[in-house]
This record gives sequence, structure tokens and C-alpha cells, in this order.
Amino acid sequence: MKNNFFEISPDIYKVGEKALENTRSSFERIDEITEYNQLKMLRAFQDARVSESLFSGSTGYGYDDRGREALDRIFAQVLDTEDALVRHHFASGTHTLTVALFGVLRPGDTMLSVTGTPYDTLQGVIGIGKNYSGSLKDFDVKYEQVELLSDGSVDYDGIRNALKPDTKMVYIQRSRGYSLRPSLLTQDLKKISELTRSIVPDCIIMLDNCYGEFVETDAPGKYVDLMAGSLIKNPGGGIAPTGGYIAGRADLVEKCAFRLTTPGTGKEIGCTLGHSRELFMGAFHAPHVTGEALKTAVFAAAVFDLLGYEVTPKYDEVRGDIIQAVLLGNEERLIHFCQGIQAASPIDSFVTPEPWDMPGYDSKVIMAAGAFTLGSSIELSADAPLREPYAVWMQGGLNFHSGKTAVLLAAENMRK
Ligand SMILES: *Cc1c(COP(=O)(O)O)cnc(C)c1O
Repeated sequence: MKNNFFEISPDIYKVGEKALENTRSSFERIDEITEYNQLKMLRAFQDARVSESLFSGSTGYGYDDRGREALDRIFAQVLDTEDALVRHHFASGTHTLTVALFGVLRPGDTMLSVTGTPYDTLQGVIGIGKNYSGSLKDFDVKYEQVELLSDGSVDYDGIRNALKPDTKMVYIQRSRGYSLRPSLLTQDLKKISELTRSIVPDCIIMLDNCYGEFVETDAPGKYVDLMAGSLIKNPGGGIAPTGGYIAGRADLVEKCAFRLTTPGTGKEIGCTLGHSRELFMGAFHAPHVTGEALKTAVFAAAVFDLLGYEVTPKYDEVRGDIIQAVLLGNEERLIHFCQGIQAASPIDSFVTPEPWDMPGYDSKVIMAAGAFTLGSSIELSADAPLREPYAVWMQGGLNFHSGKTAVLLAAENMRK
């Protein structure tokens, strides 16, 4: 419905209307996925017998925190894994993945990344390029990688050749990160898994599941041994204020818990203070919020496609993450796009984002983020490293209604 709360010119408004028409069948598919995952989540809450008494936080060591245990069970159930470790103690997604890697890898082991170079912030953890003291490399964990094919798809022959009898871990990144390759679908995870298990049966298959939760009906737990993600992305539902999760085989999750706390105490300690309620609420909302973020991404793909820009994925493509990349071609458009997104935020709409040297990234980055939670990327945000091919990566959107206006304002701001 037309409104005059935000200034959108008639031609951009018309593009928006046309984009909505184009995305109708994609939206129907998203609604089906959302409903399935929402009911799966509801079932998991009921099976875990969640009651208000589970929300009262523990202090100190946090022994016998029943809320913490129930939340672990819920995550395990919705991700189709044996066990899970859901904690506000994880400081970021990178920290969560780091705990998982250090939890299961030992000196002399080989980690094989099968989706090319991992996400920027993981490179220092592994010891690629930079070699920080305390990296996996510093602990003599060997690293190898199989590049993706030139179209961004998985190189199965390459994986077959790279697997050795003593490969300890196959590492998969599902999301595109700051790249233009497609995200992996669960059917790709299944293929990688079958191939790996046919050659090295006891290899640990680990997944960086950031941005992939609740995007499909099929959960990855059947195909991988271990996965990790961030609670300020999809599975926190925009409500979790911090944290991460690790899920997978019970023996591996225990090793990770031994790394997060101490060998021996593992999952038995770690007080929840007052945060359990937010983590439960966030988890409950997560499938729906992920659906809203997907709709925002699909709408953006349709709008910028109509405006003549290359977008990936396209609005009718099946998605394995919530990220939308738009190739804007130059620095100026990137900046205007991000400033338009910022102007549509509920928080800090009055500030103007500028490019800066962000820790952990190689080039200057401009970020639009007007979020309730600092750095949250399930709330609408857009980041663009100022480097070729001058693409902006947009993700999130707590609700499609404001997400839609943000996309139109980004287009409007570029037009001006
Ligand atoms: C976000 C992300 C991470 C790291 O999470 P942070 O919370 O930014 O540390 C790792 N891998 C992928 C694919 C991500 O999208």
C-alpha cells in the first residue's frame, strides 16, 4: 500500500510493484519452508517441555541449569543432530567455529577445506596468510584446500583426489561469504558427505553453517558430523543478544564443550545469567525471521535486476543462505546503496556510514547496519568491501515490510 512515510519517487515505486509480481512464486516457496521449520521448532519446544521456570538464569558455575540443557536439546532436534552446545559465552561466529576446530583437531591432523578459501575472519584462525600465535597452524594442524570450479560449484573430482586416508576433517562453508559463488544446498552437503565417507569413513565432516539455518526444509545434521553458527544471525531470531551454537555427533560436541570450558567439566558448567529467555525466544522466532530475511533478499534481487544490475542469486533461484549480492560496478554506487539501507533502519537512521579499515578484513569496508544488536546480520545490513567487483552483500531483515522499504530507499538513494 502506498504511504508517505518515506520519500520514494514514482518510478522506483513502480519498479517495486513489478518486483513484487515477479517474486510471487518465490515468496510462496519461502512461506512453505518457513511454516515447515516453524512447526518443527514448535514441536522441539514441546518435546523439551519448555516452561517459564527454565528462563530463570543460573549464576557461578551454572550446575544443573535446566534451561541450558533444554535449549541444547531444541537445537539438536531442529538441526537433526545428536547433541548441541548453545551458549551466550561464544563471543562471535568466528569464536564458535574456532572452538569447534580446536575442539576436534589435534597436532599433525589435516583439515581439508573443500569450498575454497574459508571466510575472511577464519583465515587467521587457521593460519592462512596471517599466522597469529595460537592459530591452528601454530599447533601443527595442517591445512589443505580444494578450490571451487570456475562457476563456483563444488569440485567433486578435486575432493576425490585430495582426500587421503589420514584426512582428519573435511571443512565446508555453506554460505557465499564475501564471494560471488552460490551458497551450497543440503543436496550438495549430501553429495560431499557421501563422497567423503566412501573414501575416508572416519573423516569428520564439519560445516560452517552461518546464514544457512532454516533456509531449506532439509536440515544439514544428517550429512555432517559437526556444524557451528552464530546466534546474531538466523538462529537467534534477531532476539539473542550474542552467542553461538555447535551441533553434531554427541562425542564431537563433547570435545568442543571440553574446549569451551575445560576438559572434564564440558557442558556441565557455564551459567546462563539472565539470557536464557532471549535465546529461547530468539530460537522460536528464528524460522519466521529467516523467512522475512529471505523475502527481503529475493525482493532486492528482483528490484536490482529490473534496474539493470547483475544480482546473485537471482530472485527465482533456490537459496542456501540469506545473502544477496548486487554488483554495482563502482565505489560511489556502493556507498549510496549502503547509505540508503542505513536511512531505512530503526536504529541510527540519522548516521551516514563511511568506508573504514575493519579488523579482520583486508580492504576497506563500508557497512550499513542500524541494528538493535551490534554487528547483528539477521537484522538488515549491507556490507561492501571496496574492491573489485564492487559488489554489495546484503543480508537480514527482521520483517519484510521494513526490508522492502530499505531496498527501495537504497535504489532511490543511488538514483539521486
Ligand atoms: C559471519 C560468518 C562467520 C563469522 O561470524 P562472525 O560472527 O562475524 O565472527 C563465519 N563464516 C561465515 C560464512 C559467516 O557468514
